[in-house]
Amino acid sequence: MYAFTLERPTTLADAVRLVEAGARPLAGGQTLLASMKLRLTASDQLADLGAVKEMTGIRREGNAFVVGAMSRHLDVANNADIKAGYPALADLASRIGDRQVRALGTMGGSVANNDPAACYPAAVLGSGATIVTDRREIAADDFFRGMFTTALDGGELIKAIRFPIPKRAVYEKLRQKASNFPLVGVFIAQYDNGVRVAVTGASNGGVFRHRELEQALTQSFTPDAASRVKIDATDLNSDLHATAAYRANLISVLTQRGVAKMLG
Ligand SMILES: Cc1cc2nc3c(=O)[nH]c(=O)nc-3n(C[C@H](O)[C@H](O)[C@H](O)COP(=O)(O)OP(=O)(O)OC[C@H]3O[C@@H](n4cnc5c(N)ncnc54)[C@H](O)[C@@H]3O)c2cc1C
Repeated sequence: MYAFTLERPTTLADAVRLVEAGARPLAGGQTLLASMKLRLTASDQLADLGAVKEMTGIRREGNAFVVGAMSRHLDVANNADIKAGYPALADLASRIGDRQVRALGTMGGSVANNDPAACYPAAVLGSGATIVTDRREIAADDFFRGMFTTALDGGELIKAIRFPIPKRAVYEKLRQKASNFPLVGVFIAQYDNGVRVAVTGASNGGVFRHRELEQALTQSFTPDAASRVKIDATDLNSDLHATAAYRANLISVLTQRGVAKMLG
């Protein structure tokens, strides 16, 4: 790891000032510190966001949950209001990585990082959530721009994420046993105005909405309706873990399984 200085701002204004001056935001370090140790990335200065109060806390606002960017995965998994009001989100958080990753990793870090196999981007896109930054609000549909790429400008910080609460939702993933990252993960959320389906892990382009599945499930919310949608494997990822065809099949199977669970 190359040498760096560490700042610990306690207000959002101070964090923004540091980051705008070139410091790299540090959340739980679950990706950033590992990359720095491997010298895949380097930064002269880190700004540890752990003491920034404006980025913490989980609260209900009308029919939405607002989750501070520095909420650890365990905070989300164990939050009584989320468990009662949006159980699929708590369940997703409870199955990320291992105990250490859940104790340190954050929602903001995961979403800013936009790993193409991460779980939270599927929940954010599948919920049609809003990313609240220090300077604006960004709809999930406009936020994810491909592998490790987002709509965030240089020096822009995620403050919180606002999730509209669905009528019901589920997250299904087939985990890679070594890391618990999904080989494929499917987040399904049903709202009054239709069903949203977001897929992670399947494409090098990162998380995406599956419009054909959404249309089919909005018309008929049954596993059968999902099974009739042909999943195109053309743009899916093939690697040593699975072929594109296998991932396409997983999208279908996980969606059918998720819908069956939602129907009870
Ligand atoms: C062994 C292992 C297993 C894992 N398994 C899973 C899994 O199953 N599913 C899954 O989804 N994830 C998994 N992860 C990822 C993990 O959940 C973390 O969310 C992810 O690594 C980001 O970590 P972090 O929150 O500590 O952010 P950091 O590593 O601190 O930061 C990540 C990036 O985001 C930037 N950043 C951080 N916070 C902000 C902010 N508020 N605003 C703007 N930019 C910001 C940083 O500058 C950095 O570029 C795993 C990680 C490990 C190490």
